[in-house]
Amino acid sequence: MAAAVTLAERGLQVTVFESAKQLGGRARGVLHEGIQLDNGQHILLGCYTETLNLIEKVGGKIDQDFLRMPLQLDLHEHFSLKAPLLPAPFHLLFALLSAKGLSLNERISAIRFMNHLKKMHFKLEADIAVIDLLALHNQGEPLVEKLWEPLCIAALNTPVNIASAQCMLNVIRDALSRSRQDSDMLLPRVDFSSLFPDRAAAYAKKHGAKIFTSCGVESILPHMNGMKIIAKNGEHHYSHVVCATSPTVAARLMRPVAELEQTAKQIDALSYQPIHTVYLQYPEDAKLPHPMLGLYKRFSQWLFDKGRISGQNGLIASVISAEGLHEDLPHEELAQKVMEEIAEEFGIKDKPLWHKVIAEKRATFACMPNLFRPGQQTPLPRFFLAGDYTKGDYPATLESAVLSGLACAKLVKT
Ligand SMILES: Cc1cc2nc3c(=O)[nH]c(=O)nc-3n(C[C@H](O)[C@H](O)[C@H](O)COP(=O)(O)OP(=O)(O)OC[C@H]3O[C@@H](n4cnc5c(N)ncnc54)[C@H](O)[C@@H]3O)c2cc1C
Repeated sequence: MAAAVTLAERGLQVTVFESAKQLGGRARGVLHEGIQLDNGQHILLGCYTETLNLIEKVGGKIDQDFLRMPLQLDLHEHFSLKAPLLPAPFHLLFALLSAKGLSLNERISAIRFMNHLKKMHFKLEADIAVIDLLALHNQGEPLVEKLWEPLCIAALNTPVNIASAQCMLNVIRDALSRSRQDSDMLLPRVDFSSLFPDRAAAYAKKHGAKIFTSCGVESILPHMNGMKIIAKNGEHHYSHVVCATSPTVAARLMRPVAELEQTAKQIDALSYQPIHTVYLQYPEDAKLPHPMLGLYKRFSQWLFDKGRISGQNGLIASVISAEGLHEDLPHEELAQKVMEEIAEEFGIKDKPLWHKVIAEKRATFACMPNLFRPGQQTPLPRFFLAGDYTKGDYPATLESAVLSGLACAKLVKT
């Protein structure tokens, strides 16, 4: 949709084919028991400037659409760090110095590490696993478990022992080392479909775009001076194609085309990590102490109080990123574990009126060191790849997806 909006605005005739009933892909609204949920709780960072600009372009109002909070990490009763309203880098320095749940030595060690990263401009000579980088810089177990591991899993959706240190440094560079606002955490107050794709579709249509939902593309082939698409609604010819599907579907569509076979093979080599979101609807007076807080050594990594964020009182979302033991549990059992954790940590003992587990097995690609990510320009001059998995600095995030869409739009020369 980032590519569609940009190209339609440029006056090109854009057609969007979406296989699902609704736009939005992995970041879409889901209706359950008459309550608007998301396919998974999403969080944006202040440094996701292209995503935020795009949301504004299509009619969003960042101040109204998001609860914006200064950087804060709170692992209930085990660790807390909060950035004060000081200019960067003092906000981070103060946050690390005053962090609760770490010894003075550990806090100083974290500050030294950040200083070192800054001196090396957040660039490693060779990419390694996050855990190895942390070991090289004497970030002991408490620092890893309370600070770096939760940050790594939240940002990269990949466990520290296999996550790319360079990719993590790219996020740290942009979120933590520039302006204070870049490290702000933005929690959507509206469901994701309303937040972006629905508005983007209306905006693109206003600029002449056609949008087909429930209309998957079955094949893409070079044809004459352009491209031929076979979709559920028939055959179409276009001058250019931006393929903005998940990596697995992109590889499937590309494999039959000789020029794209090699790129398809490289995409096939990606591996994936899951994200589980457990929504629990408690009675309306159930509240967490903060809109978002983490748990230490529990199944639930982060809990979101949707009452405090979006006025959906009593609704709590528990997010469990990346692989782990939770994957072995049946959904019902996982939901029970989360309920027990919420009861033990916050004394919320009521039985939820309902609960829903959304498991995205391939939520994101596993962001590992030296990963091959295909460029937006493919060997076929009129065929481009958009998506969070394509070449870029960021792990699989909304910002990487948006950046790739904008890059594709730039590559379409008419
Ligand atoms: C549970 C969960 C939580 C997440 N949390 C965060 C977060 O907090 N912050 C963050 O930045 N990111 C988060 N992400 C990642 C973020 O959602 C993705 O990076 C982003 O949505 C990827 O967008 P995309 O356009 O690359 O791909 P997708 O969203 O996968 O879009 C691909 C689209 O292609 C369509 N499609 C597939 N096949 C066809 C076909 N044959 N023809 C036509 N259309 C087709 C699909 O239906 C889909 O709409 C999360 C992801 C998940 C799953």
